Amino acid sequence: MAVRKLIYLPDKKLREVSKPVGLITKEIKILAQDLIDTMQAKQGIGLAAIQVGVPLRMFVIDRATAEEDAATTPLAPEDNAEPLVVINPEVLWFSSESHVYNEGCLSIPDYYAQVKRPILIYMRFTTLEGKTEQLELQGLLSTCAQHEIDHLDGILFLDHLTKIKRDRMVSKFTKNAEFSD
Ligand code: ZN
Repeated sequence: MAVRKLIYLPDKKLREVSKPVGLITKEIKILAQDLIDTMQAKQGIGLAAIQVGVPLRMFVIDRATAEEDAATTPLAPEDNAEPLVVINPEVLWFSSESHVYNEGCLSIPDYYAQVKRPILIYMRFTTLEGKTEQLELQGLLSTCAQHEIDHLDGILFLDHLTKIKRDRMVSKFTKNAEFSD
């Protein structure tokens, strides 16, 4: 259990396509707990493994916060305070109807933008116990999962913005990175 170091824009690693997780080893379980610890320490509602520099297809979501905000029925009322660990996710279906959320990202601090995404998704994934599960996600939880799945493919939320807005953002972060060298 530990808070790991985050990587930030413009780190090229954020553009890597993460690899599927094979066996759920002890290392994977430690990584899952570290992702939860890091997400909570940084007060995020989601965190992908690549954001701590590990290119594996897994992420965590603080589903209690996400559901509270979305005012939807909890996924599992008996343990909805537990963060959700998602391994090798696949989106099976998404709604044609979309919604807009003001998104942020722990790897792009202090920047928020309105992003439009499908309201509802069906996601299949592997749990930390190695079981296959399928969930219907809506509201902020759906947006959050889509944001994290994007990370696994090297996509950032600013890729959903217009080119002008995105370029302005990247150049701002590149300048800051040069500045701190
Ligand atoms: Zn992010």
